[in-house]
Amino acid sequence: DAKKVSVLGLGAMGAAIARSWLASGYEVTVWNRTVGRAEALVGEGAVVAGAVAEAVAASGLVVVCLLDDASVGEVLADVDLTGKDLVNVTTSTPGQARERAEWAGARGARYLGGGIMAVPPMIGVPDSGAYVFYSGSPELFAAHREALAVPAGARYVGEDAGLAALHDVALLSGMTGMFAGVSHAFALMRGTEVAPKEFAGLLVGWLTAMAPYAYGVAAQLESGDYALGVTSNLAMMVEGNGTLLRTAEEQGVSAELLSPLMALMERRLAAGHGEEGTAGVIDLLSR
Ligand code: NDP
Repeated sequence: DAKKVSVLGLGAMGAAIARSWLASGYEVTVWNRTVGRAEALVGEGAVVAGAVAEAVAASGLVVVCLLDDASVGEVLADVDLTGKDLVNVTTSTPGQARERAEWAGARGARYLGGGIMAVPPMIGVPDSGAYVFYSGSPELFAAHREALAVPAGARYVGEDAGLAALHDVALLSGMTGMFAGVSHAFALMRGTEVAPKEFAGLLVGWLTAMAPYAYGVAAQLESGDYALGVTSNLAMMVEGNGTLLRTAEEQGVSAELLSPLMALMERRLAAGHGEEGTAGVIDLLSR
């Protein structure tokens, strides 16, 4: 069964993944709900399955890349998965991934959940930085390690099938916070003589310089000492937040993206932790 894979779902991501295996000489069987999208890959050597069951039967390794977890359940509802190695790279929550792993196990399949850290143009491109978090069956990962490394780097993070999704969503959540900061910063600068492109360069430089802040937080979490190595203490930062808020006011910009974090920093300060950094905010968030 070497160099054989079936890909279910040929949206932007699924098609890029299937193409990377075709380009590496794999025998690729594809299935997509809208048949036209599958036929586009025939010229590149793909075998188009007329039905999902046919695609699943064609290879031991079955990779699923659909819109969401519900579509995975729908597509595979009546398909025999006995003895299959199912790799689901559809974005899902950790809970959905764990349930999907149990569901697959009950059908006689080994299961690996995936979280893709890339956009389609990065797939199959060496050194693009693209990688996929995988978690679930260690035996499946070991058996298909080479194949899984073709579309993007393959990072196995543990046996808990939900752990790949959790890594994925945690990184995306960090990025969402960055989007908030970037949006607020551009809003402040709007209407000035500074071109957005010029300001973008400054912003990228500053955010890059500040990113290792995460290592400082990690050291504080690991030691349990939230004042460890602090050079910018919470009392000073909360004072600084006042300047950020007044500037927003002066510029006629809503501070709604910043205020939730600032409120948490104030709560931590009010509880007597002015000498710490910001790690205490994590305690306030954890339910
Ligand atoms: P697309 O919207 O391009 O494709 C969605 C795919 O899901 C199509 O193949 C579509 O079939 C299929 N589909 C949706 N609903 C159903 C259903 N009910 N039954 C059968 N098939 C269904 O999405 P992407 O390819 O971009 O994304 C796929 C997965 O990859 C998602 O989970 C996404 O989060 C993840 N991902 C995507 C990234 C990206 O940048 N694109 C980045 C990282 C992860 P049809 O063609 O018939 O509509």
